[in-house]
Amino acid sequence: MFEKLTLVGIGLIGSSIARAARLKGLARHIAITTRKTETLEEARALGLGDSYSLDAAEAVRGADLVILCTPVGAYGAVMESIKDALAPGAILSDVGSVKQHVVKVIEPLLPAGVHFVPAHPIAGTEHSGPSAGFPELFVGRWCVLTPGKDCDPAAAAKLRKFWEALGSNVEAMSAEHHDLVLAITSHVPHLVAYNIVGTVADLEADTQSEVIKFSASGFRDFTRIAASDPVMWRDVFLTNRDAVLEMLGRFLEDLAALQRAVRVGDGPGMEALFTRTRAIRRSIITAGQETAAADFGRPHPAAAPKPLPVREHGGGDDA
Ligand code: NAP
Repeated sequence: MFEKLTLVGIGLIGSSIARAARLKGLARHIAITTRKTETLEEARALGLGDSYSLDAAEAVRGADLVILCTPVGAYGAVMESIKDALAPGAILSDVGSVKQHVVKVIEPLLPAGVHFVPAHPIAGTEHSGPSAGFPELFVGRWCVLTPGKDCDPAAAAKLRKFWEALGSNVEAMSAEHHDLVLAITSHVPHLVAYNIVGTVADLEADTQSEVIKFSASGFRDFTRIAASDPVMWRDVFLTNRDAVLEMLGRFLEDLAALQRAVRVGDGPGMEALFTRTRAIRRSIITAGQETAAADFGRPHPAAAPKPLPVREHGGGDDA
């Protein structure tokens, strides 16, 4: 499909693209570039590419597909370093979790003849780095493309085919709409998780043993989200501020209503809300975006085969 694919940044997402593109034979040559020597060496040891360089300009030279896979806060500096080396006719894309900011940063630096097609694979885990990736990450997950009005339709169609070949379902929408939808489905939930785990961390001095001991009762599921990459998520909230504040405002209004329901003992009101929220979970399962297995399919200790393997750390991660 492509002669040379260059991945700028080779963490969870970049390395998953490298693995899947290799497996599916989507590029004759995969070039990898990243900022730190140790990350590049880790990618080399894992055999993720065909060439490796700390020099991003050198890595993108001659590529017909370049995908930025760094945190979005790094895009400006990355673009400054690669823009003169991008080949005319090449497709430039990215995987950033916000889209309006990305367009604002990249478009002014885009050389003539290079086709920019922003993308966001809605797939991930709370792990980071080249070793965290796996080729099935995008299978059955959505990838949103946000081509601008001047985007070359043939370039957008080719990138769509690339993501479909990685196993994704692809949908196109405006960058504005993407940012609003993701603010409520992803960004605000992360903010809530960071906040609730932060609150518990502050309590921890008094109740440390209880926090660990009883963590399976709901708190544990927030800790998985709150373990997500701090730099990536800092950049999401710095760059999707308006949409996040809009959705957070609605969330806080609804929370105040729920607070009142608890205070006045409005049982029917709470039951009606919890019934609606349960239906939403069921529709996500029906849509194939979540497992139907109880507790995310975690093995229950009592159901584990005997003898239990000896582990230093608890397993059963739902990532
Ligand atoms: P990651 O595992 O932390 O990898 C980030 C990569 O970017 C690493 O190769 C890192 O290399 C490089 N990098 C970091 N800061 C840099 C800088 N200032 N300049 C140049 N390179 C830099 O992150 P990730 O989870 O793959 O996320 C990458 C992108 O995917 C982000 O834009 C994020 O919004 C998006 N995304 C993430 C998820 C998710 O769940 N994680 C899902 C969808 C989209 P060094 O080690 O060499 O610095």
